[in-house]
Amino acid sequence: MGLTGGIGSGKSTVAQLCAQRGARVVSADELARRVVEPGSEALAQLARQFGGQLLLADGSLDRAALGQRIFADPQARRRVEKLLHPRIQAMAKHAFASAPTGATVIYDIPLLVEAADAADFDEVCVVEAPLEVRLARLADRGLDRAAALARIEQQASDEERRALADVIIDNSGNLEQLARQVEPHLQRWRQRAHALLARTPER
Ligand code: ATP
Repeated sequence: MGLTGGIGSGKSTVAQLCAQRGARVVSADELARRVVEPGSEALAQLARQFGGQLLLADGSLDRAALGQRIFADPQARRRVEKLLHPRIQAMAKHAFASAPTGATVIYDIPLLVEAADAADFDEVCVVEAPLEVRLARLADRGLDRAAALARIEQQASDEERRALADVIIDNSGNLEQLARQVEPHLQRWRQRAHALLARTPER
C-alpha cells in the first residue's frame, strides 16, 4: 500500500499509527537518506556531477547545499532525480520483498505522484489537511510560512494526488479523529495481506 500526502498533511503520523498497530512501514525518506550514505556510489556520483562542495567535512551529503543547487535549476533537479530515484526504488522493492510473509507493508512516500508509479501499489492512500492547518502544524515544527509555502509549491497539488487516491484520509481534526479514520483501512489492509498469505501455495 502506498501512503502519501503533501508536506505537513500528516502522512508520517498515519504511518506511525499503522506501525504501532503492527504494520511494517517502509519510509522513502529513510531510504533516500541511506542511498547517499558516506561511501555510497550515489554520493560519489553526485559529487562528481556537482562538485565536492556538496560534501560536508565528514564526507556526508550537505543536503542544504544540494537543495540550494537544485532549487531554481530544474535541469539539475532532474539529473539528481534520475540518479537517486531508481536506486531508492530498488531499495524499496528489496525492503518489500524481505518483509515477513503475511505482513501488512506500507510504503510512506511523500512524492508518490511526482516520483513513483501508482500502478506499483495495490492501493494508494492520500492524507489531506487544509492548507492553513498544514502551515500551522509545520510552524509548530519550526518551518516558517514562506519556506513551507515554497515547498508546497514544488510538490504535486491536492488535486493531482486525489486523482490517484483509492482512499483519502482527512486529517483536519485531532489525533484521535485521525486514528479512528485509519483503523478500518488498516483492518482491511491486514485482511488483504492475510488473504494473500492464505492463497500462497506452501513450498
Ligand atoms: P512531511 O512531508 O514533512 O514528512 P507529513 O505529511 O509526514 O510531513 P507529519 O510529520 O505526520 O506530516 O505531521 C506534521 C506535523 O503535524 C507533525 O508535527 C505532527 O505531529 C503534527 N500532526 C499531524 N497530524 C496531526 C493532528 N491530527 N493533530 C495535531 N497535530 C498533528
